[in-house]
Amino acid sequence: MVAISRASLPERLGLISGCEVTARAPLAPLTSVRVGGPAEALVRPRSPEALVALLRQVREEGVPLTVLGGGANTLVGDGGIPGVTLKLPSNLFPEVVEVGEEEGRLTLGAGAAIVRLINQMRSNKLVGAEFLAGIPGTLGGAVSMNAGTKNGECFRVVEAVEVATADGVGWLSRAEIPYRYRHAGLPAGGVVTRVRFLLPKGDTVASKKAMDEDLGYRKRSQPLSQPNFGSVFTNPPGDFAGRLIESVGLKGHVSGRAQVSTLHANWIVNLGGATARDVLTLLSLMQARVREERGVELQPEVKRVGVFLP
Ligand SMILES: Cc1cc2nc3c(=O)[nH]c(=O)nc-3n(C[C@H](O)[C@H](O)[C@H](O)COP(=O)(O)OP(=O)(O)OC[C@H]3O[C@@H](n4cnc5c(N)ncnc54)[C@H](O)[C@@H]3O)c2cc1C
Repeated sequence: MVAISRASLPERLGLISGCEVTARAPLAPLTSVRVGGPAEALVRPRSPEALVALLRQVREEGVPLTVLGGGANTLVGDGGIPGVTLKLPSNLFPEVVEVGEEEGRLTLGAGAAIVRLINQMRSNKLVGAEFLAGIPGTLGGAVSMNAGTKNGECFRVVEAVEVATADGVGWLSRAEIPYRYRHAGLPAGGVVTRVRFLLPKGDTVASKKAMDEDLGYRKRSQPLSQPNFGSVFTNPPGDFAGRLIESVGLKGHVSGRAQVSTLHANWIVNLGGATARDVLTLLSLMQARVREERGVELQPEVKRVGVFLP
């Protein structure tokens, strides 16, 4: 008992059967922008039961919980993330494919990459999720962010979402989840474990053409060769964050090793060795300039997690 009470958080969590725990795990490599400090305890549950046991312990101990998907929309502070950083393995659940005459249901794990949905859609001659092609990250992140483009948003093709909390695991239908532009109202402390997509059968040639065109557009207009985390601000109603930032002269502006992309002003790129402070300095400057000169309050799309050092 004495040994347990003196154990560190990673040691205590390591006692949960079926959880892989890494103390002081570097997180920058787990994010697309490659910035930020370590996790106090990075936990990968190897079964749904282990996940619920972890969520119970987190609740009982009052430990902070951060869920990390593919890290494609996340800025981790330079001081790292205290408490538990949870990462669902991509293969925590088997994929379930049910295809009928007119439509198909694809049930995929939340830790799986978004591209799994695209691949399953194509191999089962389904259509409708083209707008998610080319978006990096996991299906859990896509649901949580209601990811999408001008051509559609994730919830358009979601039928139901399975959510785990300390009380267990259960399915919520789309109608039970309030969602809007780049936001889903998931239960507090809930972790998306599986997502069921409902897609119609349709013109697969047109579907592939739409995805190829979209990917071509991304290659031309986005700085994909440099570490980044996509659009940093959401588009204000009736306007574009990138247009506003460019109009106040910040395209290409540099802070430390972070830069407002020269290709797309709503993107920040890591020039190599950027810190979260470099990125935050740019975010604050972009927000302040657009507020002062254009009277628009830009809303961050990127999620900030962990400790930001002054
Ligand atoms: C090159 C590039 C292009 C992009 N293009 C687009 C685009 O066109 N449209 C768009 O919408 N986004 C885009 N993004 C942003 C990003 O890809 C999406 O937001 C994506 O959905 C993030 O998924 P993720 O798994 O990486 O989430 P993360 O960054 O890991 O997490 C994002 C949020 O989701 C939560 N979360 C993640 N998994 C779970 C889970 N299982 N349960 C509960 N909460 C969870 C996290 O806690 C966090 O709040 C782009 C990013 C990049 C780098």
